Amino acid sequence: MMGSLLDHLVEITGHRDHDLLDISVMTALLNMIGVHRARVMELFQSRGDLLIRPRVWIIDGKVQTVDEETSASEIAGEPIVNYPGLVACIAQRKNRLEEVRPDGQHALWIPIWQNDKVSTCLEIVHETSFTPQMLQVMEGILSVYRNYQSLLDYSERDSLTGLLNRKTFDEKFARMVHARPQESSHRDDGERRHHSEIKSQWLAVIDIDHFKRVNDVFGHLYGDEVLILVANVLRSSFRSQDRVFRFGGEEFVVLLRSATLADAQMVFERFRENIEQHAFPQVGQITVSVGFASISQETPVVILGHADQALYYAKDHGRNQVCQYEALLDQGHLHADRKSDSIEFFFDEPAEN
Ligand code: GH3
Ligand code: MG
Ligand code: MG
Repeated sequence: MMGSLLDHLVEITGHRDHDLLDISVMTALLNMIGVHRARVMELFQSRGDLLIRPRVWIIDGKVQTVDEETSASEIAGEPIVNYPGLVACIAQRKNRLEEVRPDGQHALWIPIWQNDKVSTCLEIVHETSFTPQMLQVMEGILSVYRNYQSLLDYSERDSLTGLLNRKTFDEKFARMVHARPQESSHRDDGERRHHSEIKSQWLAVIDIDHFKRVNDVFGHLYGDEVLILVANVLRSSFRSQDRVFRFGGEEFVVLLRSATLADAQMVFERFRENIEQHAFPQVGQITVSVGFASISQETPVVILGHADQALYYAKDHGRNQVCQYEALLDQGHLHADRKSDSIEFFFDEPAEN
């Protein structure tokens, strides 16, 4: 018993990844207390509603998880009010609540409290009532889980804005590009869809316009305050399945999942307007420029380069606007880099200076 508990602790703390952490905690619960059904659930806001969806679950003694690509878009989540036991547990600020279901099963809700908030909770279902010994083992596993999760958050997030940090971006983006489905394996409805209706992933680079002036005129503290407020607008402007990062100083990056070109254009434009219309205390109005590109078959570096080129174009042409790399190519405003087109490359490079 003791040896196997230690094995599980080693396993749990050996991962630097939320998903793997979830899986090893589920495996520990499965083996240590013989749970048949359990789920790690994620709580999130969408258009003012509090929703919930599973992230990892145990069915028939096996741990299962949603795959990185499909999870966010496929599982839309359901209203948390469908789970009155959990709602009561959170409202009463409890660490756990046991309920007996109509089918006679005992279910235990365990919210993972972090700074008075719950974004993750566990649902554990068992045929009979949970014994004190089961609860004790579970508590042990879960306190390790709780502590380790805040450590992970700490290393994944930027301390000023709370957004995901650059390191996390590098990891997530590389994984997203790697897991990208091939064009041909896409579901074919028999008829070819119009190009603009194809859902794709998008990468945007966002840079605050004339941010140096904010620091120069109002000082660094006000500058920092603006960064925090911009991060808040970012969080409320995108869907929960999209990812927002602080890339560096006053630069942010957004990964947009499964959106048509028209949708992508619309959400980035809406974000730009949200910032333009936001009244920043003391500082007043600020604006942002946005460059975005399709997450194509290229490498992460190349895709990031595309978004960056679109951003520079926006900066060079009046700022406070959203530009798309592929559209700029089509319009002849930008030219594709010809790294693979080696012959032309040597003759076409214009002499600078
Ligand atoms: P542009 O419209 O061309 O982007 O002009 P800009 O002044 O925003 O551009 P630039 O990138 O030259 O300047 C960015 C400034 O952001 C430089 C630096 O003083 C400021 N900055 C970077 N990180 C931070 C930070 O964490 N806090 C504060 N207050 N300022 C920062
Ligand atoms: Mg900058
Ligand atoms: Mg700037």
